[in-house]
Order: sequence, then C-alpha cells, then structure tokens
Amino acid sequence: MRIKVDSPKCSGCHLCEMVCSLSHLGIIHPERSAIRIQKDDLHTSLNTPLLCRQCQTMKCLDGEAVDLQQERKKFIWHTKRAEQCPFHALTVLGEQAYHCNLCLGNPLCVKVCTTGALTLSK
Ligand code: SF4
Ligand code: SF4
Repeated sequence: MRIKVDSPKCSGCHLCEMVCSLSHLGIIHPERSAIRIQKDDLHTSLNTPLLCRQCQTMKCLDGEAVDLQQERKKFIWHTKRAEQCPFHALTVLGEQAYHCNLCLGNPLCVKVCTTGALTLSK
C-alpha cells in the first residue's frame, strides 16, 4: 500500500500535517509530521504533498543490516536516512526524521483529505 498524490487537488489546508503529528506524537506540529505541503509561490502556486513513497528498494537504508518490514513501521528515523533518500521525502527536524509508516495500515491523512489530493493505492 502507498499513498498516491494528486497535487493540483491539494488546497494547502495542512490538515494532513496536523493529524499526522497529532496521532503519532500527541501534538499539532506540522514540522514533526511525516507529510508536508510544499508550496511553489514563485511559479505554479501548486501545493505539493511530500511523503515517503514506500519504495521496494529502500535507498534510505543503504548500508544498514536491519529488517525492512520493521523499519517501515517506524515513524521516527534518524536524519541519516533522510539524507540518503533520493526523493527528499522525509521531514527533518533536529536529529530526527519523520517517516510515513502508513499509520500501521490506517492512513489518517488520507481520511481527512476532503479534496482527494491524497488517495490510497495498492
Ligand atoms: S524514505 Fe525515500 S528511499 Fe526510503 S522508502 Fe521512502 S521514498 Fe523510498
Ligand atoms: S499515512 Fe499516517 S504516518 Fe503517513 S503521512 Fe499519513 S498520517 Fe502520517
């Protein structure tokens, strides 16, 4: 399962960021959310939701001898993995990176996205 993004449908309401941090950390803190909305103010004015693409081959874990399935379930990762992600998909704050764990099978950001910018894809 992964989350499909349709950027032109994103209104930039940031509800996904809020529900992500609230559900995992108990606080509303968009900078500590695994999804973030990048706004292109200069050119297109598009809001683009960015989050982990759930790759089959996880470049982010290069050099680590870990259980991939276990790592996929974790929300907080070390920033080194964010640096190794070719898509710059993780949110970083301080020493922590925030990784989309798909809410362990019940993706809340998709549920609160009323415009259809975020949908599930299997
Ligand atoms: S963090 Fe990056 S490389 Fe790793 S699975 Fe997600 S999108 Fe892929
Ligand atoms: S699926 Fe869950 S962990 Fe992933 S970005 Fe959405 S709310 Fe955050």
